[in-house]
Amino acid sequence: MIRLQRLPQPDNFSQRAQDWERRFSAERARNPKLTISKFWAAVRQEIRPDAEILFRNFHGKCAFCESKMAHVSSPHIEHFWPKSKFPHKTFAWRNWLLSCGRCNEAKWSHMPFCGPIPCLIHPIIEDPQKHIGFVGPIVVEKTERGKQTIELVGLKRLDLEEERARWLDQICQLLLLATIPTFHREARTLLIWAMQPEAPYSAMTQAYLLEVAPRLANPPQPHPYIDLANGIQQIRQLVEQNSNAIHDLA
Ligand SMILES: [Zn+2]
Repeated sequence: MIRLQRLPQPDNFSQRAQDWERRFSAERARNPKLTISKFWAAVRQEIRPDAEILFRNFHGKCAFCESKMAHVSSPHIEHFWPKSKFPHKTFAWRNWLLSCGRCNEAKWSHMPFCGPIPCLIHPIIEDPQKHIGFVGPIVVEKTERGKQTIELVGLKRLDLEEERARWLDQICQLLLLATIPTFHREARTLLIWAMQPEAPYSAMTQAYLLEVAPRLANPPQPHPYIDLANGIQQIRQLVEQNSNAIHDLA
């Protein structure tokens, strides 16, 4: 998990949210068996344009496991405060996170508390890296809330760990390429991009590079932002096309 910044809510979102809430109340008055989950499913298509903005806000990444959605499953709007227990927060923009199906299913409507606050770490209002770290592709807890969060959304699941390991392998190969003068500049740029929030598994990449390349991971002046539309493909291509050079170094 990595800290993310929430963009302002979409234009006229408040009016739409009020309208959904009003319709839910009216329909519930007619049909007391109507649950908020059923109503949510019924208006899913109407929510879609806002869901797409949410998707871009989260860089198309699961707020919990940092998988790019295409990697593991289709995106879900995750209600940090579960809608079954906190129905009044169902249409609150600030309660929406983007999550993959696997994390969403694992979390479900669980909301355990650690003292007065939720155990689940909120990636927008706090820094997940204070609670959760990595040793290679293995996720490790730093705090009790980190431990609870890992269990709650299943960050130790095997297929996710394999996916992180594959990505970390690309990062290792990029690091090797960065030692060859011909590739140094491009590989370094891509490594910096891989630590930015939009890159997959960026918390893991940051932790790894902090260990093996601390000057790159923690420079005296922050790196300028690197705007790449297709960083994943660029990394894969560079590594693939120069596998012989990497092999000679390794
Ligand atoms: Zn996920």
